[in-house]
Amino acid sequence: ESVLYIVATPLGNLGDISDRARAVLGAVGLIAAEDTRVTQRLLSHLGLKARYLSLHEHNETARVPVILQALAEGQSVALVSDAGTPLISDPGFRLVRAVREAGWRVSPIPGPSAVIAALSVSGLPTDRFVFEGFLPARGAKRRTYLQALVRETGTLVFYESSHRIADCLEDMAQAFGTARRAVVARELTKHFEQVVSAPLGDLVAWIAVNEDHRRGEFVVMVEGATDAVPDDTSGISAAHVIAVLAAALP
Ligand code: SAM
Repeated sequence: ESVLYIVATPLGNLGDISDRARAVLGAVGLIAAEDTRVTQRLLSHLGLKARYLSLHEHNETARVPVILQALAEGQSVALVSDAGTPLISDPGFRLVRAVREAGWRVSPIPGPSAVIAALSVSGLPTDRFVFEGFLPARGAKRRTYLQALVRETGTLVFYESSHRIADCLEDMAQAFGTARRAVVARELTKHFEQVVSAPLGDLVAWIAVNEDHRRGEFVVMVEGATDAVPDDTSGISAAHVIAVLAAALP
């Protein structure tokens, strides 16, 4: 039986590859990889050889028939991304949908994902969380987007790159207030792993004070709103109301 395996790979520490991931990557007829060079490096570390096909944001739709064909020819296929779990802020959702609709089995080989790794060490409530992935890149859009999350009571989780982490924290302090508790998780499982918990205002200062703090890959988590109905209007300025309305109205 042909199967499409969705295989999680390490976030940075190669020791985090699972035995099942290793076995499946060694056994499938074809590996669809976000960046074939990155995956080739992982497989050569594991002492494995494979046939590759690139599958990224820009060619995913075109790759679907190629992968369906491989499955029909009796080959199992593994999908991997550069790091962590495919489909989590990574390509693959169109492929999984199409393969399922065509009647093939899609099976997970679970493992690392930055969102779960970060939450597990954050010390923030994890019973309910809202995964927001990457915020809009442009400042104005990002600020409007954050305003719409001000009343959310679940823990908010964002992915961020080194280029925008400082601006992003500033905009969060502006939207949620400088006193809202947040956690920055940087370079998880890597040499410079760092997890910092502080009010947003302090995190803005922390990121500004040392350029090393802005290096690497980040997960930013913000504690949810505590007052379902705030008893004062802090954080709900006229500017906020106007921004939210401007975004919602045609
Ligand atoms: N699919 C991946 C996963 O399961 O986490 C996420 C891919 S997304 C394109 C890359 C983003 O994930 C980075 O910009 C960062 O926000 C986060 N990330 C990945 N590795 C990380 C790490 N080692 N430490 C902190 N964040 C990481």
